[in-house]
Amino acid sequence: MESKTALVLGAGGFIGSHLVKKLKEEGFWVRGVDLKYPEYWNSYADDFIIGDLRNKEIVEKVLNKRFDEVYQLAADMGGAGYINSGDNDAEVMGNSILINVNVLKRAEQVGIRSVFFSSTACVYPEYNQMDPGSINTREDTVYPAAPDTEYGWEKLFSERLYLAYNRNYGMKNKIARYHNVYGPYGTWDGGKEKAPAAICRKVAKATDEIEIWGNGEQHRSFLYIDEAVKATVDFYREENYFEPINIGSERNVSINELVDIVCIIANKKLNKKYVAGPLGVHARTSHNDLITKVLGYRPSEDLEYGISETYKWISSQINNVK
Ligand code: NAD
Repeated sequence: MESKTALVLGAGGFIGSHLVKKLKEEGFWVRGVDLKYPEYWNSYADDFIIGDLRNKEIVEKVLNKRFDEVYQLAADMGGAGYINSGDNDAEVMGNSILINVNVLKRAEQVGIRSVFFSSTACVYPEYNQMDPGSINTREDTVYPAAPDTEYGWEKLFSERLYLAYNRNYGMKNKIARYHNVYGPYGTWDGGKEKAPAAICRKVAKATDEIEIWGNGEQHRSFLYIDEAVKATVDFYREENYFEPINIGSERNVSINELVDIVCIIANKKLNKKYVAGPLGVHARTSHNDLITKVLGYRPSEDLEYGISETYKWISSQINNVK
């Protein structure tokens, strides 16, 4: 029997490279596309094409047949230092929207039934995320829209584009809103890293002190990569629900608590030094009632396990660089 085929756009990125591995383990023939190869490990893809998906000729070339599964993860993105500073807004919006327009047009042309689109928790309105005691990211609270970043606005517009293709062309596109996915083989330095990786790096390098942006009372939830990838494929293959859904953890921790967890894992006692930095919304966590109903399970919330795997990997990276 011939293997099923999958196309992963953004396969050189963090989630994309893990997703390719999972699809290979399931027996798929996989094509990956990205501007770059995965930075920290070799791709498991059968065919990896380096290409710029803002360019429609490239999209036509890579999306040249009816893949059984298509995952669109390519986006110009990064952690708070990248998307909250405002310095990269034009690039973030312009680049990602071009990719999504090109991909949908071409997918419809070649008869792809369904594309998975990776949206984000950043689509939720800032007014529901001011206070850790009253965060609301239930999927239907996304309107009236008021994302706090241009990155969130682009994702929200693109969600609507994927839904419009469902309505107008009978596609069955699936949209997930990821909430802070973390784990090994993700960006851990250079400015695009997210909080768990940045904190693991800072703790691994520190001897007596760690710098924290703001007062450390920003609250977030974090989902381990293996769980995010499993929920991605399970939701993509689910046949009944076609509105956006959260993929995240409901375990809400402050940045100060996250630092404490990393310090325990690293067996270090560090002073916290609070410095100015981009903060993002005050509080955000996933709301998982809908995914539980649709998939029949909730992601687990084993932050200590995930952080310990991530810390081990980042420490080994730091030691390799020395
Ligand atoms: P990532 O930055 O590691 O991966 C995105 C990949 O897209 C990168 O490898 C990048 O090179 C590629 N890319 C960007 N522009 C491209 C272009 N023009 N042509 C081809 N490739 C291009 O990010 P990630 O953490 O793996 O996230 C994957 C997707 O999930 C993104 O769409 C992101 O917005 C979304 N998301 C991620 C998280 C998270 O916590 N990691 C949270 C919310 C949403």
